[in-house]
Amino acid sequence: MRAVLTYHSVDDSGSPISIDRASFERHLDWLASGVVRVLPLAELVAEPTGLDAVALTFDDGFANLGDGPLDGLSARRLPATVFVVSDHVGRTNAWGGRDAPGIPTLPLLGWDALGKAAERGVEIGAHTRSHPRLTRIPIGAVDDELEGCAARIERELGVRPTAFAYPYGDLNDPVVRHASRFYRLAVTTEHRAFDRPVDPARVPRLDVYYFRRKGALERWPTVAFRRSVRLRGLARRFRAGVQGFWGLG
Ligand SMILES: [Zn+2]
Repeated sequence: MRAVLTYHSVDDSGSPISIDRASFERHLDWLASGVVRVLPLAELVAEPTGLDAVALTFDDGFANLGDGPLDGLSARRLPATVFVVSDHVGRTNAWGGRDAPGIPTLPLLGWDALGKAAERGVEIGAHTRSHPRLTRIPIGAVDDELEGCAARIERELGVRPTAFAYPYGDLNDPVVRHASRFYRLAVTTEHRAFDRPVDPARVPRLDVYYFRRKGALERWPTVAFRRSVRLRGLARRFRAGVQGFWGLG
């Protein structure tokens, strides 16, 4: 079984985008223990075998990653991808200038910190310029969000990003087609692990929000783990269909 794990903020607020520091440290220790391989995102997606492996992703690039989590990753030599919103780097996650209900507004990493992270081996991925719902804006604006983000990251850090994360996991066929023009792979908020090859333009992930409890991630890859992931994925798909809720990408 393979899975891409989605983290956002590492803080003790208990919010839907937060994992507390103690649980995060526990995850890192478990991931470094060798029970499961931790691969760079592109390698995990390209991995043709059925071997157990995970990749680590961090959406939005919260500044608190610089207060220990990035050190924890590099100390354990764990590869990771941080998806940044290029117009918001060094600012906050108040997308569109508005606080989101139930979600804390927090500072985001600046270009200097992202550059240092990249030097230490962290992959910097793209997460659009301004974090819009891509299905709700004209396709010309979608291209600007996709291409503009990659161009800015390349200008600031000297490396063109090849991985992309859809904000809120919000996508449709045209959005996916356009994302494929600019990026080699793109990750969603579809809550699913996988055994077979996946479409690199729609890579599912597991939101670690559901694995904060002690032992929840550590029971990988048991039947109970698979069952809980499947049920959670179904519940999220149902909610997406009924409420148009796609998740917190
Ligand atoms: Zn996001």
